[in-house]
Amino acid sequence: MDFSKCKMIDGALGTEISRRGFSVDGEVLWSAKAILEKPELLKQIHYDYYLAGADIVVSATYQFTFETMKKIGFEKDKSIELFHKGIDLVAEAREDYLKSLNYEIENIPLVGASIGSYAAFLADGSEYTGFFNKTKQELIDFHLERLELCCENPNTDIIALETMPSFLEAEALIEIFNSGKISKKAYISFACKNKEQINDGTLFADCVKICLECDNFLAIGINCTKPEFVPNLVDIANEVMKKQKKQKIIMCYPNLGNIWDSEKQTFLPDSGFSENDFVSLLHNLFINKKCSIVGGCCSTTPEIIKKLAELVKK
Ligand SMILES: [Zn+2]
Repeated sequence: MDFSKCKMIDGALGTEISRRGFSVDGEVLWSAKAILEKPELLKQIHYDYYLAGADIVVSATYQFTFETMKKIGFEKDKSIELFHKGIDLVAEAREDYLKSLNYEIENIPLVGASIGSYAAFLADGSEYTGFFNKTKQELIDFHLERLELCCENPNTDIIALETMPSFLEAEALIEIFNSGKISKKAYISFACKNKEQINDGTLFADCVKICLECDNFLAIGINCTKPEFVPNLVDIANEVMKKQKKQKIIMCYPNLGNIWDSEKQTFLPDSGFSENDFVSLLHNLFINKKCSIVGGCCSTTPEIIKKLAELVKK
């Protein structure tokens, strides 16, 4: 299906893997650990999100980096193979889903290849502060290799640049895409710490503004942000686009608002929004045309995505 027709993105992956009994909390690879050790479980979760109504399901490669793989003893070739496997598992889940429908479906949902922030590689929750001592060039070097692999993989429909906490990193990613080295399209989504700033303190409005200058970005989003901040952030995105006279798709997939426990490297359950409040918040943003793709991040589940999809696709 065409990306512009998408309405729903999937829900959490890392927290969902842990919820199903394979804890990846505090692991250096986080959800990517399941590519190595629990591929069947991972494929099942991807499948469940397609079944729930997601038009875009995203791979477990968010925290997969070659630096980490080397540290835990993997040769480069094997690491590259496993990175591709993370994307391929989503495509396999989609194939199973299509088969279950006897291929009787008008719009075939998409496979997203997830790329996390440099902060995700640090595996210490730096996504939530956005502070890491790197130059723009270092961030370019860090991101380029995985982005090239996403492009090489024929299963990648869209590249998901997610939970970006840093303005400098957004600039680095824009520079990569504007250099023409990356042929596939992407969306970029920011993690915000309040109603107007991304996690490093930059105004979200400034981030939207620079991302409008990247033709390869099909959408600009907000993810892994507390749901109560999201309505205002979506308004900001709309205002900037109006002012700049440039329109891109706005995506919104906040987390459930659970409190982050930095010691345990996990979200404390039941400390955020109720499922119903979460679903109605996003449904409202969607029906009021404030954003056109909705879904969930950490602590959301296929059940929540199903409830939201039923409303959005009515
Ligand atoms: Zn998240």
